[in-house]
Parts: sequence; C-alpha cells; structure tokens
Amino acid sequence: MLQYQKSPLMGQMMGQPLLISSIIQHADRYFGSNEIVSRRAEGDIHRYNYRECHRRSKKLANALKKLNIKIGDRVGTLAWNGYRHLETYYAVSGSGAVLHTLNPRLHPEQLAYIINHAEDQYLLFDLTFLPIIEAISAHCKTIKGFIMMCDRDRMPTDGKVPGLMCYEDLIAENSEEFEWPLFDENSASSLCYTSGTTGNPKGALYSHRSTVLHSYASAMPDSLNVSARDCVLPVVPMFHVNAWGLPYSVPMTGAKMVFPGPALDGKSLFELFEQEQVTFSAGVPTVWLGLLTYVAQNNLKFSSFKRTVIGGSACPPAMMKTLRHTYGVEVVHAWGMTEMSPLGTAGTLQTKHLSLPEEQKQAVLEKQGHAIYGVDMKIVDDAGKELPWDGSTYGNLLVKGPWVVSSYFKNEGGDVLQDGWFPTGDVATIDADGYLQITDRSKDVIKSGGEWIGTIDLENVAMAHPAVLQAACIGVFHPKWDERPLLLVVKKPGVEVEKQDLIKFYEGKIAKWWTPDDVVFIEALPLGATGKILKNKLREQFKEYKLPTA
Ligand code: ADP
Repeated sequence: MLQYQKSPLMGQMMGQPLLISSIIQHADRYFGSNEIVSRRAEGDIHRYNYRECHRRSKKLANALKKLNIKIGDRVGTLAWNGYRHLETYYAVSGSGAVLHTLNPRLHPEQLAYIINHAEDQYLLFDLTFLPIIEAISAHCKTIKGFIMMCDRDRMPTDGKVPGLMCYEDLIAENSEEFEWPLFDENSASSLCYTSGTTGNPKGALYSHRSTVLHSYASAMPDSLNVSARDCVLPVVPMFHVNAWGLPYSVPMTGAKMVFPGPALDGKSLFELFEQEQVTFSAGVPTVWLGLLTYVAQNNLKFSSFKRTVIGGSACPPAMMKTLRHTYGVEVVHAWGMTEMSPLGTAGTLQTKHLSLPEEQKQAVLEKQGHAIYGVDMKIVDDAGKELPWDGSTYGNLLVKGPWVVSSYFKNEGGDVLQDGWFPTGDVATIDADGYLQITDRSKDVIKSGGEWIGTIDLENVAMAHPAVLQAACIGVFHPKWDERPLLLVVKKPGVEVEKQDLIKFYEGKIAKWWTPDDVVFIEALPLGATGKILKNKLREQFKEYKLPTA
C-alpha cells in the first residue's frame, strides 16, 4: 500500500466519485442523438443512439435489481460487440455490480472454471453461444440464471438451460426510471481474466476510478485520439480487455459507434466500414490481415478510414507500411496488457520527427510508443537494477500507474508487485525519447549460447517478404547452442518460395547469428482466444524438430 502524507490544507473541490455510470449519462445528455450501429448476431443491422442506449441500460439495471443483484456481485457476459452488450456494460457496472466479460473462444471447461472462480451470479449471452451455455450450465455452481440477449421469438423452448430468461422481455417489463447509485470510486467495476497461456487464468479486477481515468487517458490526441467527429468501429472484442476501453472512451467523447457483431471476416468488415463511414478502428494484427487481404484481392480502397490502433501483439512493419502508404491509414502502434486495462503506450510522432525523412518516421512509428500520462515504466536486469534508456539495452519491463493491477482477484498468485512496480513479463528497450520497443515476451525469447534473440524482429523481417502471409519464430533444441531459431511460415495463397530464399532475405537486415537455422512451411498458425499466435503450442509441436547441423 502507498503511504501518503497528510496535508493540513485540503483542496476545496467537489468529491464527485469517478463512476462508469457518469459516462453514459454524459453521452445521453450531450450526444444523445449520436448513433450506435450494430451488426447483430441475428445477422441484421440495428441502429439507435446514446439516448436510447442509456434508457435501455436503466431498464436493464432495474431488471438486475429485481434479480437481487447487489453491489459487488459478479455478472458474466458471453457476447460479441453489440448494443445489448454495451447496455450490459453500463447496467451492471453502473449498478455497482461487477461486469465479468468472458471470452467465448476459450475451451468450455476453462469457461466453467472462470465462471466458478469469479462466482458469477447471472450470465448474459448472445444467441450464437447457446450451445456453449447448454454444455456448461450444469457445471456453473454459482449461476442463478442465464439471460439470452435476443427477442422472445428466438428463445429456445426445449428447456435445456434451466431458468433461461429473455433479454428483451426484461427490457420490456422494466421501468426506465432508475437513479444510478453513488459509491466509492475505488469499488470494483469489471473483471477480465488473462488468457492463461501459463497456468490457470487470473482475474484483473478493475475499479470505477481506474476505468474512468483510463478512458480519459486513452482518448487523448497522442493515445487513440477519439473525438466527437469520429466514427469508431472496435474490431477488438468487448471480451478482450473491454475492447481496449472503447465502450467507455467512445461514449465519453460522443463519437459514433459501430459494432461488427460476429462478422469479423474481411468482406463483412469492409462493407461495414464503407456503409457507416468509419474513421477509426482498433484490433490485433491478425484481424487486419483478413481485412487487408480482402481489400487487396478485390482492388478496393477505403473512403473514410483514417486511423487505426494496432496492438495485442507486435504490428509487423510491412502491415503498417501497407496501411499507411497504400491506403492512407495512420497506424498507432499500442502496447498494453489485461493487467493494465490495457493501455500502456501508444506510438505517435512529435514535432521534432515531422521533418525527418519518411523512413525514419516509419522507424519511430514501428516502436510501441511512449507511455501515456498516468503510466510509468522502466527496464531492469535480472537483479532488478534499472537499465539505461538508449534504445539498445534490453531488460525486463516494469510498469506502474492508476490503471495497473496491484494484485490478482482473490489474490491468486500472491504478491505480484516488485517494489511497487508490476512486472509485465515482456522484454524491451526504451530509447532516449522514452519510446518503448518490445523485443519479446520473456518466455518466447530464444536463448542461443547464453545470448538472447528476440523473435519479434525475426518475424517482422519474414513478414516483409512478398510470399509470406504469416510468420512465427520459436526456439528449438540445438546440441551446441541450446536453442536456435526456427521460422514457421504460412505462404500467401498461390505464391511459391523456397526455404533458402527466406533465409537469404535476412542478409543485412539483422545480426548474422540471429538468422533462423531453418524454415518450415505450415498451413496455418495456431491462434489463441484473443487472436494471438500460440507459441507454446508451436514449441510443443516442434519439440523434437531436428535443425540442420551443418
Ligand atoms: P494475454 O495474451 O496473456 O491475455 P494480453 O492480451 O493482456 O494478455 O496481452 C498482453 C501481452 O501482449 C503483452 O504483455 C505483450 O507481450 C503482448 N503485446 C501487447 N501489445 C503488443 C505490441 N504492440 N507489441 C508486442 N507485444 C504486444
């Protein structure tokens, strides 16, 4: 716990708590007629505005009250990006309960584990996920009822899910008269579990204060730069670290919101971008791959798309160049994690960079950016000694700030902080201007003869080759060097390339000894629940791989 000094003279300002309900109230009052457009799980397009969203959120809050949901109780969701999910965000947290967004791409057993661990009382879900609910409902010990987010005519009648309620019935039956309660801004507001690539998933429990501060900070011009003139389409799911805070920062600024629902393929996304004149979007690199492939294959251009934030894993420079130069879309490379709500850094240029040649500007933008005010970071060696910010010394990255976790839910994993700093598990450099560059996750780094090789650089080089669609690099056993890099490549459809061409492609681009020892072409890379490449799966799959020894 931080120790404060007590001042004899306190400021004389209102002690208005920073509560999530104030965001939707603000959006209703000042941007009431601004639109929220959703592609629904039912397949059609739904439109309404912030005023209507607030009205229905209050109806849902009344329904939750009748269901005896109390302050601090957990309420789960298993849903796509859509207006009903947004209403649930505000109704649950606004009432003082805790919104627990579940990732439907997790294994059903893992979902049941998380629901039980969180002790969710109710679970709201989109109709797409009925089969998952049918499979897990019997194992969810604390759930008192399930609410299907659809109209009455879509409700199943087979009674397979006991106590199943209809969302639209709850909305219809309840009054829109609801006064958002006031409580301590440090109260828990929402709960997200990390994907648990190592061990069981752990919960990051956000507060109202941390969420509101994160929303302010993430909307700033050198973060995501969201304004009332934007039309924002969050591709990043509302079940992946609250869609990086966009369900809060977008209503806060009054921007138009467009939700893609379950249709995340290139064609559906492109059509929605054009139809709604989207200006800003956000997502992990793998979704942009799908969209950009579709756009290139069909020789299309975006007519309104101006800016995108890419994060969650490293944005390959080749992808950034295509977006910037071929489509005129500005790319903000951001870094963060579930434990950071998630935003830590964002990459934008400063005045001194504007006169630089294009290549050097691109080099600045390829880094993960600078800390957003509120977040502080440092790199340390294994003994905890702080390392210099010279852009080349790499070390373990530690962070702190008001939207960084201090411990996990139910104190899972015990004390996680090191002298008040959160260890991110990432390895990074920081340059003299404070720009962060992630070298790797510490568990993915390749340890070759006692030296470290960062896999992100190796993948970025491969991704710049015209024949490569996707690339991942892993360390595999080597009798002399312990580990050496093996490059796994998914080729672009209909394009041929030889191993040797790819290995040659590294010449002059990286230190010679970093060059992958071998290349394996594969059909697809295994992706995790948040669209990231599962390196642990690849390591397992290629455990016995024999590298050429010559
Ligand atoms: P998990 O994948 O464990 O659920 P998160 O989704 O919170 O966790 O991912 C956090 C991790 O993702 C970071 O610690 C980092 O390794 C990686 N990451 C996020 N953004 C970037 C980025 N822009 N570049 C490289 N790595 C990133």
